[in-house]
Amino acid sequence: MINMKNMIDLCEKHGFNNYSRFPVVWSSADHGHMVDVDGNRYLDFMAGIAVNSLGYDDEGFKTALKDQIDNIIHCSNLYYNLPQVKATELLSAVSGYDKAFFCNSGTEANEGALKLARIFGKKHKNGATKIIAFNNSFHGRSMGALSVTGQPKYQQDFTPLIPDILFADYNDINSVKKLIDDKVCALIMEPIQGEGGIITAEAEFVRELRTICTNEKIMLIFDEVQTGIARSGKMFVFEKLGVKPDVLTLAKGLGGGVPVGAICATEEFAKYFTPSTHGTTFGANPLATRAAEYVLSKVSTEEFLQSVEEKSEYIFTKLNGLKNKFSSIKSIRGMGLLIGVELIESVPTAEIVKKAFENKLLILSAGHNTLRFAPSLSVTKEQIDQALDIFEKIIK
Ligand code: PLP
Repeated sequence: MINMKNMIDLCEKHGFNNYSRFPVVWSSADHGHMVDVDGNRYLDFMAGIAVNSLGYDDEGFKTALKDQIDNIIHCSNLYYNLPQVKATELLSAVSGYDKAFFCNSGTEANEGALKLARIFGKKHKNGATKIIAFNNSFHGRSMGALSVTGQPKYQQDFTPLIPDILFADYNDINSVKKLIDDKVCALIMEPIQGEGGIITAEAEFVRELRTICTNEKIMLIFDEVQTGIARSGKMFVFEKLGVKPDVLTLAKGLGGGVPVGAICATEEFAKYFTPSTHGTTFGANPLATRAAEYVLSKVSTEEFLQSVEEKSEYIFTKLNGLKNKFSSIKSIRGMGLLIGVELIESVPTAEIVKKAFENKLLILSAGHNTLRFAPSLSVTKEQIDQALDIFEKIIK
């Protein structure tokens, strides 16, 4: 008999067992809720880990994707395709970068950025190969992206990783300065450490990094895979910090659920990728870029960004109210609709996430003792009220 337990058992038997999944099988989603195969509805405050930026009810998005399926789903990068042209132009316009390159995931965007750094260093900075990254960062799970992920728990089983990666402490400019020499070609950072616990870079720290990178001819890469595409209330967190990196990596919200990643870069650095230096079979495929084009045109309007800011203010005010009420909440961090709720040491976050699940609320954890709320950007104030009512009951 096919029931939820049987489906889960089948998947555990035949699938790799590299995820600790919650015991649920989703069948659909609508109105801010995930729906399981038995029809139970869960209020979604994690949006596929900050992916489903438009939620589940955007009819224009669904129509665009269906139309694209009717036209063409895939063609090779040996040719141009219409959505790719439109999405490339649009991403370059909304980001303010000269060039955009589409790929399939955040990891792949970072992998490409690291390759761009290496080709720049090797060929144009006297063989410089060192890349500075930060402790407590997360950039993905391929060998390159993992090498710049400053968390031993993810790295230890896969060493040796790629060489010439140096780690500094986040928000500590002196720890960066100590690592600078003429062999450094790039510095990669998240403007908000997401998986690391929703920790925001200080504006002064980022300004100093920008100055160092400009003076020392170091390629400054911002990984906005989690923070980009309107999640912060601006299209990109770098706009909030007032510092523009040379290279920007994106994914998650960019495709509204369709797997799309991207690298944006100034011409000064983009030019190092010449034919045959880098590529991807699926990247920029018409279905993926049609999704990106739709999402970008929707979320980059002043009106949409303003709505994210308003909902952000609403949820932050309410969460700060809960913090004043309950001593188990230590701090509220983040920006826009990427929010970290730090709990005191004695309250295990995994237990709270589990309890939320049992009460049909989907939230995440992040870093040390921090809960993460990352709803779709189309979340409503009523849904915020509902989610925080459930959360309050649990945290009591
Ligand atoms: N970079 C950041 C900041 C991320 O948060 C993530 C995923 O959580 C990645 C990179 C990896 O992205 P993906 O899982 O799409 O490969």
